[in-house]
Amino acid sequence: MRQFGYERPTQIGAALAAVGAPGARYLGGGTNLVDLMKLGVENPELLVDVTGLPCDRIEPAAGGGLLIGATVRNSDLAADPAIRRRYPVLAQAVLAGASGQLRNLATVGGNLLQRTRCAYFTDVSKPCNKRAPGTGCPARDGEHHNHAILGGSPHCVATHPSDMAVALVALGAVVHVLDGEGAAGVPIEELYRLPGEEPDRDNTLAPGALITGVELPPLEFGGRSAYRKARERASYAFAIGSVAAALAVSDGMVSGVRLGLGAVAPVPWRAHRAEAALLGGPATEEAFAAAAAAELADARPLRDNGYKVPLLANLMTQVLTGLAAEVRR
Ligand SMILES: Cc1cc2nc3c(=O)[nH]c(=O)nc-3n(C[C@H](O)[C@H](O)[C@H](O)COP(=O)(O)OP(=O)(O)OC[C@H]3O[C@@H](n4cnc5c(N)ncnc54)[C@H](O)[C@@H]3O)c2cc1C
Ligand code: SF4
Repeated sequence: MRQFGYERPTQIGAALAAVGAPGARYLGGGTNLVDLMKLGVENPELLVDVTGLPCDRIEPAAGGGLLIGATVRNSDLAADPAIRRRYPVLAQAVLAGASGQLRNLATVGGNLLQRTRCAYFTDVSKPCNKRAPGTGCPARDGEHHNHAILGGSPHCVATHPSDMAVALVALGAVVHVLDGEGAAGVPIEELYRLPGEEPDRDNTLAPGALITGVELPPLEFGGRSAYRKARERASYAFAIGSVAAALAVSDGMVSGVRLGLGAVAPVPWRAHRAEAALLGGPATEEAFAAAAAAELADARPLRDNGYKVPLLANLMTQVLTGLAAEVRR
């Protein structure tokens, strides 16, 4: 059994100092990191538990949106009345993820930084460029039915597993980060990076950077939003495709739209191309289907995951059509 240390600071400065020790890692709810430690994928020397830090509230942000503390539990986030009213897509995405017990433990910061569920990544007896750079990517020719159709590289085609992050990308959230350089607000799309030639780097954070919170902008039409997730069984399971959408319609025309896609790429994917195609055009099922097709035109499926192209096209069309119907009601 491997020995490791454990600390639970109550001040942010102390957490930053503690994580500076060799082999130290932050610990949120531990629902991903501890699993990976048991599998031998992660081997930290010291766990710095962030759940004692004063980052556990959801409160109004200066710009009119909401600031969600990084240690807010997923269950508390999904149950928060302001989140449910102003950003239902986020509450729905969180509730679509994992199980009740897991959501009671999992934190916002940990959810964003959870690692891929690619079976080769979690099996230390197999090669995997993300876990052991330069060893290869057996998923490309092996088991890849739930791998990326967008944004992959010859070195890695894993998908990002978070449901929450898909909603946050659609909402244009800003991640509050603290590191040796000070505090910064990182637009969530810039938090994540595509694998390119360095698939071991999932994100753009500096070593030891602490996520302190996530800020939601005051999106006017955030209240008309929804999350739709396809998965292989009705109880808890990771997505094989998901869509987060927010829609504003004025006189039958799309006056605002936000779209995020999940389980299609190594990052939670903002569907910029579909958004641009829709804005100012008719809010009809035909237009939604055309925009979905435009977004997916660059999809490069592998041998066994081509089903994701029609799946995502249908999910996008359905969820937007449903939101447009709500406007007419
Ligand atoms: C059986 C099962 C099913 C699941 N199904 C789903 C699902 O359907 N959808 C879904 O989205 N997720 C699912 N999950 C994943 C679950 O949502 C994540 O494990 C959880 O959100 C991670 O949060 P955590 O706080 O436990 O993170 P931890 O495991 O504590 O940490 C994860 C990572 O984040 C880092 N970290 C944590 N907090 C911070 C911080 N504040 N600043 C910087 N770094 C930090 C840690 O160092 C670690 O690298 C499932 C998990 C399991 C076990
Ligand atoms: S897809 Fe990525 S995580 Fe999976 S085996 Fe290939 S390199 Fe590893």
